[in-house]
Amino acid sequence: TETINKIAAGEIIISPINCIKELIENSIDAKATQIDLTIQNNGFKIIKIQDNGSGISKENFPLLCKRFTTSKIQTFNDLQRIETFGFRGEALSSICNISHLKIITKTEEEPFAYECEFDSNGNVISEKPIAGNTGTLFIINDLFYNVPSRLKSLTVKDELKKIIDCVSKYAINNKGISFSLKRIEDNKMLYNCKEDSSINDRIRLLINSSINKFLLDFECEEDLELGLVSCKGVITNLSYSNELNGNKKSNSYGTNAPIFFINNRLIDCEALKKALLSTYNSFLPKTASRPFIYLSLFIKPENVDVNVHPTKKEVFFINENEIIENICDSLREILQKQDVSRTF
Ligand code: ADP
Ligand code: MG
Repeated sequence: TETINKIAAGEIIISPINCIKELIENSIDAKATQIDLTIQNNGFKIIKIQDNGSGISKENFPLLCKRFTTSKIQTFNDLQRIETFGFRGEALSSICNISHLKIITKTEEEPFAYECEFDSNGNVISEKPIAGNTGTLFIINDLFYNVPSRLKSLTVKDELKKIIDCVSKYAINNKGISFSLKRIEDNKMLYNCKEDSSINDRIRLLINSSINKFLLDFECEEDLELGLVSCKGVITNLSYSNELNGNKKSNSYGTNAPIFFINNRLIDCEALKKALLSTYNSFLPKTASRPFIYLSLFIKPENVDVNVHPTKKEVFFINENEIIENICDSLREILQKQDVSRTF
């Protein structure tokens, strides 16, 4: 089974970025209000993530890193599904299979924290009480040490951009949680936002601080019959796009693809992306650069395809065309209200 596990794990965790995404989602599910990441060699050497969430109680250590074990499925109901879709208890077991994993965790109830190490099959190999605050620290060393093909195929340079991008996106979608990302080699802070920093501030950190005047709130009316529970977000106005075009400013990490979250999961939706960009561009000359778009959608959980493979971010939902059309209508309305004269 060791080989089977390793192969399966290699499909779920295909780069440090997958690993980081899964860990951030776990911290958010654990109701953390502070998430601090540290990386070395772009996550290949070390990924550390400290949160102040619920912590993990000692009794759960033996099953924590076993495949298909999740604490989230037992308390499965519609309300939770809407908050946490995509859980299948595979992330930690996969990470464990292809790295050296250690955790330090403490729940509110327990008097001390515990440090616990796992072998590549998810068995506990050591466990000891130590001092610590409520919350969980994951330490992942030597990711892919036993999957040489992954190590070779990854261009380490791109990975850093993607990591910063990913952390920023979760920060944007999670007002009320502080996020930091630090690089061990030079102690450089790569992303940092306080618990109380606004969504717009978080966006400015990702894209370009000089565009602060141009962020617009976006909202689309709910349509429960279609399954659209809510849709909110932020877009840039038209003049922003043109200014960007004029002085060739682009955001520092090349993030110009729209950011979509569905039920709090970072996803891709090609159809929605195409429709929004074409609606937006219909207000602009062809040469204009892409806008910044961030949308957070809540779709009735039973309408979302939750069985998508964890590495495939593409999500499908029922009544997709109608919902996308509604969202584009709202975008049109917002853009029509803009002072287009400034753009040309
Ligand atoms: P899933 O998230 O699909 O349940 P994972 O393998 O990602 O599966 O995590 C397994 C379990 O470990 C979770 O169900 C949760 O109980 C626990 N867990 C993981 N990370 C954390 C964390 N940061 N804080 C508290 N519990 C956690
Ligand atoms: Mg998880």
